[in-house]
Amino acid sequence: MSAPKSEYLCKVLVLGDLGVGKTSIVQRYVHNIYSQCYRATIGVDFALKMVTWDKDTMVRLQLWDIAGQERFGHMTRLYYRQAAGALVVCDLGRAATLQSVHRWKEDLDSKVSLKNGNPIPTLLIGNKCDLIPYGGHSQQLEELGQQLGFTDCHMTSAKVTTVYMIGGGGSSARGRGHN
Ligand code: GDP
Ligand code: MG
Repeated sequence: MSAPKSEYLCKVLVLGDLGVGKTSIVQRYVHNIYSQCYRATIGVDFALKMVTWDKDTMVRLQLWDIAGQERFGHMTRLYYRQAAGALVVCDLGRAATLQSVHRWKEDLDSKVSLKNGNPIPTLLIGNKCDLIPYGGHSQQLEELGQQLGFTDCHMTSAKVTTVYMIGGGGSSARGRGHN
């Protein structure tokens, strides 16, 4: 295979309260692993994911995982500098983490923007969907995402890779991957 003609570096911030699963999501996405406990580092953890965009284009996705600084509820302008996008993560099992989503979004938008002044693309991620009944909170998450001007919102689980519904609607049985 020939080498890609262009390579882009893309800085993506991963924000949200302590314990919502930021590190777990990054580790799952980059290394496809899940662990119950990660070392509590102080500072920032970086993870790099190479994404083949098309045959000529490679994207180096640099994920900035805040580590141990969540308790402040905000980050420095320097940290946000030149970010191309962000995830704001909340824990679907802990309502308080949904309530602090707006603080993270406000902090982000006040400290970084695109060249044209628009907010950077930001996804609202509801993590730990394996812990809640199927579809629970999805409407609340969507409303929150729209109200606060997120680009899109998704529910996910860093722990369980397969959550599927058997049969349609109503009371559902769920299959789960083993991790
Ligand atoms: P962070 O502080 O936001 O980086 O959160 P961590 O990634 O350290 O996760 C905090 C805790 O939640 C850990 O015990 C994880 O194992 C757990 N956790 C993370 N993601 C999930 C998930 O999708 N489902 C469940 N059930 N637990 C999760
Ligand atoms: Mg962490």
